[in-house]
Amino acid sequence: MTTDTAPWRATILTLYPEMFPGPLGLSLSGDALARGTWALETHQIREHGIGRHRSVDDTPAGGGAGMVLRCDVLAAAIDAAAAPDDPRPRLLMSPRGKQLSQARVRALSAGPGAVIVCGRFEGVDERVISARGLEEVSIGDYVLSGGEIAALVLVDACVRLLPGVMGKVASGEDESFEAGRLEYPHYTRPREWEGHAIPDILNSGNHGAIARWREAESLRLTQERRPDLLTRHED
Ligand code: SAH
Repeated sequence: MTTDTAPWRATILTLYPEMFPGPLGLSLSGDALARGTWALETHQIREHGIGRHRSVDDTPAGGGAGMVLRCDVLAAAIDAAAAPDDPRPRLLMSPRGKQLSQARVRALSAGPGAVIVCGRFEGVDERVISARGLEEVSIGDYVLSGGEIAALVLVDACVRLLPGVMGKVASGEDESFEAGRLEYPHYTRPREWEGHAIPDILNSGNHGAIARWREAESLRLTQERRPDLLTRHED
């Protein structure tokens, strides 16, 4: 059972648990992990491997290159890591999945956490995906060698939205994608650098004018670089 005070919990199934927490052990996410704002568990899939060699993969049915993660091994690992009544979504990092969006990250972050399966080799036996209710999630249209880095990306994006993790900017509402827009440009000291000055308006102290300038810049950048964001209906 989770309660309102339980930490957001990520359970990672992987052949490389040494990759965790990795970069998530540093900076904002690392501090929050140490404070208990979120929790991380890794499960070594190989513990459920077959035979003396704890084999986890086999050749693809129908032939072809590479190896496939066995469904029986993966199912045993999932069953050991998450009870059937565990309310957390079960995700499989996969280039075939629906692409991760800030809206999805926000929804995951508002929930109890996630159980995340990291694929390797050519992927996983298709049967385990439906048998264990795995939702495939992609981090973009490119192929990684394993799901671990994709899982780190997903967890990082979720953890920074947890209450108290980002401090003052906790809502993150200003940021890229939150309003279906890219963020406006940032500047800081020095006021002039290599002949380039900070836009005058930002030194004007006129907060209304600054907000309007940022809004206009945000719209301009989005139109220029990601016009799809202005028309797309984010789920
Ligand atoms: N043969 C597969 C690719 C396997 S890559 C195909 O062509 O679709 C090995 C593992 O890396 C995958 O099982 C998945 O867990 C992970 N992976 C690779 N690219 C990914 C991406 N863009 N998003 C999320 N996970 C990815």
